[in-house]
Amino acid sequence: MEIKRNILLNPGPATTTDTVKLAQVVPDICPREKEFVGIMREIEDGLLQIVHADPEKFAAVLFCGSGTINLDICLNSLLPADKKALIINNGAYSSRAVEICEYYGLDHINLKQPIDRQPDLAAVEQALQENPDVALVYVTHHETGTGLLNPVREIGALAHRYGAILVTDTTSTYAMRPIDIEADNIDFCMASAQKGIMAVTGLSFIVGRRSVIEASAAYPKRSYYCNLYMQYDYFMKHGEMHFTPPVQVIYATRQALKEYFAEGEQAKWDRHFRVYRALRGGLERLGFRIYIPDEISSGLVAAALYPDDANWDFGKVHDYCYERGFTIYPGKVEKKGMFRLCSLGAIDEPDVKAFFEVFEAALAEYGVSVPVRYE
Ligand SMILES: *Cc1c(COP(=O)(O)O)cnc(C)c1O
Repeated sequence: MEIKRNILLNPGPATTTDTVKLAQVVPDICPREKEFVGIMREIEDGLLQIVHADPEKFAAVLFCGSGTINLDICLNSLLPADKKALIINNGAYSSRAVEICEYYGLDHINLKQPIDRQPDLAAVEQALQENPDVALVYVTHHETGTGLLNPVREIGALAHRYGAILVTDTTSTYAMRPIDIEADNIDFCMASAQKGIMAVTGLSFIVGRRSVIEASAAYPKRSYYCNLYMQYDYFMKHGEMHFTPPVQVIYATRQALKEYFAEGEQAKWDRHFRVYRALRGGLERLGFRIYIPDEISSGLVAAALYPDDANWDFGKVHDYCYERGFTIYPGKVEKKGMFRLCSLGAIDEPDVKAFFEVFEAALAEYGVSVPVRYE
């Protein structure tokens, strides 16, 4: 079977291998069969191993949904009654966590920080000092909207010093940047199958501390479908998801995990970083300004400011590239014109080279002057 290969430079879902795509084509099976339960266990083990989590202390809990379901579940399930969440908010994804707190009426502090730099750790510590009832500190590891990397290990150390757990949204770093869950002071991290592990959409998972999940059995139940303890408990007893799993996605995920371990943690990160360097370098050669300085960038996303050129039209450039098999993506910052090129997925330097040929042709086609100009 010939499947057209598209290069997705958007922040996930990412370019997949044909072997992962085709792993979804399997004989029909009822997910309650023992054979399927075995596959679920294999996947759980793999998900723990990716962040070097000790299976005695940590569990991987799977859900059917996109990555945002994890934010929802962690926040609504892991906050004890009469306690507060501290949300470190320096981007669109942490703002989403704040909105979730608002929807559930969870007591929280929205610690707003500038979106173009790492948070002020002294401000985090002050919030913890002034609010001894904070039980959960929340931070986004990588704000995918800008490419900013947050210092999770330092924030986790602070959370622990003040008796709180650290929940971190690692959706856009997990299985790309190496994470060591305990060394990085993380109690809960999360991702979805279509990002770092390069599988397909529809499966999300949380890797977290068993003792905390078990304690959360006594916390207020704020959602029926999206409760972490309920899903964990069912997994422990039956080895599978409480409700119907995304069957074909599970097969693709199993294949993607095999490919992850075959490539290896360090080699895979080296590849993503090499692609990022090529993307960022290519943009800078054309004169584009990148929003986040290299030193605090995730090494996975280059967000370029729109040039001040009347001929620049993101939509047209996007369509030109899309018709030729390359997807670029708008930014996620209010009132700032930006687009993003991301190094997720099964791509490498030759793909970036091929992309820039098309991208430069698009700029020429629409009369955007190169190097691009800013006022
Ligand atoms: C992709 C992503 C999510 C999840 O987004 P969905 O559209 O629900 O898959 C959450 N957090 C971060 C940081 C992400 O990059």
